[in-house]
Amino acid sequence: MKTANPTDLGFSILEEGFSARDTVGQKINELSMTDDRDAFYICDLGDVVKKHVRWMKALPRVTPFYAVKCNDSRAVVETLASLGTGFDCASKVEIQLIQSLGVAPDRIIYANPCKQVSQIKYASAHGVQTMTFDSEVELMKVARCHDNAKLVLRIATDDSKAVCRLSVKFGAPLKACRGLLEKAKELGLDVIGVSFHVGSGCTDPGTFTQAIADSRCVFDMGEELGFSMDLLDIGGGFPGSDNAVLQFEEITTVINSALDKYFPADPALKIIAEPGRFYVASAYTLVVNIIAKKVIEDEESASDEEDEGTNDRTLMYYINDGVYGSFNCILFDHAHCLPTLHMKPKPDEVMYTCSIWGPTCDGLDRIVEQCSLPDLQVGDWLVFEDMGAYTVAAASNFNGFQTPDIHYVMSRPAWQFVQQVRSHGMPALAEESYPFELPACCGRESNLEIPTKPYHGPVV
Ligand SMILES: *Cc1c(COP(=O)(O)O)cnc(C)c1O
Repeated sequence: MKTANPTDLGFSILEEGFSARDTVGQKINELSMTDDRDAFYICDLGDVVKKHVRWMKALPRVTPFYAVKCNDSRAVVETLASLGTGFDCASKVEIQLIQSLGVAPDRIIYANPCKQVSQIKYASAHGVQTMTFDSEVELMKVARCHDNAKLVLRIATDDSKAVCRLSVKFGAPLKACRGLLEKAKELGLDVIGVSFHVGSGCTDPGTFTQAIADSRCVFDMGEELGFSMDLLDIGGGFPGSDNAVLQFEEITTVINSALDKYFPADPALKIIAEPGRFYVASAYTLVVNIIAKKVIEDEESASDEEDEGTNDRTLMYYINDGVYGSFNCILFDHAHCLPTLHMKPKPDEVMYTCSIWGPTCDGLDRIVEQCSLPDLQVGDWLVFEDMGAYTVAAASNFNGFQTPDIHYVMSRPAWQFVQQVRSHGMPALAEESYPFELPACCGRESNLEIPTKPYHGPVV
C-alpha cells in the first residue's frame, strides 16, 4: 500500500481542542464575509475512523467490506483502505477505484448478482474472484467469462421492515437454492458461500437472525453437494447515525448470538459484511444558504386582532442544494432531512411553519414539506447533519447547479491511529488504549452549538 500523508488524502488536520463542528462555524463565518455563499460539506474522516473501531468492538467475528456505492469519495475509501477494511464493489469503475488505492483483489467482493459480461471479464482480468450470483443465467455467464470465480449465492431476505427494500430485485428464494447449487456443480463452478442483504435501513434485527439461519441451510446444501462452504456475507443494513430507530449495538447483539448459534467459531470460516451507511452517514454535515424567501400571509389569522404570537404566516425558504443534488436521498433513499440552525435560537424566538425548497426550476424539488423555523433571511445558513450516505454519490448537476464542495478534516489523534493501524495492524480491542475518545453508543446532542466565533448576521 502506498503511503498517504494528509496532503495526498486532501484533508486538514484539526488542531487540538478544535472539532469538525468548529470547522462548520469557522467556514460559515468565513463565507459570511463574502457574497459567495455556496453550499458546502464538512466531512469528518475521524468519524469514519471511530465507526471502524466501533464496528470491530461490536462485531469482532465480522470483517467489514465497505459498500462503495454508498459514498465513493476517494478520501473516505482511502481512509478505510488504510484501516484494512475490504470493499464491496458493484461495477468495473468501483473495482478500478479500489484497486487504484493498492487494495489487493482478495479484499474486494464483486457483490452485484446481475453483472454485464464485459465487466465480469474485467474482474477476471484484474484478479477479482469473489462474486455473488442469484440465478442460473448468471452462472452460465460466469462459467463462460471468468477463469476462476469463487461464487457466493445471494439469498433473499424478508426485508419488509427495511426502509429500502432490496430482495424484490435480488436474492434467490430458499427453495431455488438447491437447483442453483446443482447447476453450478454441473458447470464446474466453485461456490464458496452465501450472502444476503436485509434491506437498507433495517428496523428489525430479527431479519438478520432469520437470514443467518437460512444461510446455514444453504451452507449445508452446498456441503452435501461437495462444495467447501467457508464464506458467510451478512451484507449491509446497519444504521449510520444514532438518531436511527434502532441502535447499531442493538442489531449487533442479535447478530452475534445468531452467528454463535448457526455458525460457531471455526478457523476455516470467514464472515464478512457489506456496511455502507454505517461508515459514512454521520461523517458528513451539509451547510446550505438561503437564497430566496417567500412570506405567505395566513388570511384568517391576519384578520384577528393582535394574537400573542406573530406566527400568522408561513414561510418558504429556497436553498442552494436540492433533490437533484445532495437531497436526492429524499427520493432514492427515502430520507427525511431536517435542518438545524447554526445559531441557537433565542428562548423567546417566534417560530413559523416553513417549507424548504431546492434551487432548480422543478416543483418536485422540495426538501422539507413542513417544519418549524424562526424568521430567517436571505444569506442565512441552515445545517443538515448525517448527510454522508447516498447523497453526493448520486447527485446530479441538473439545471446547472453544482454539487457542494467537500472539506475533509480529521483530528490529529484519529490520523495517528490510522497511521498506527497501517503500520502495525488493528490493536487488540479489549483495551481502552485508543488515542481518542470513542463515541458514546447512545444519545447525541440534537442541536448544533456553533459557531464558536461571533456571527456577523445576515447580509441581504
Ligand atoms: C447497497 C448495498 C450495501 C450497503 O447497504 P447499507 O444499507 O448502506 O449498509 C451492501 N451490499 C449490497 C449488495 C448493496 O447493494
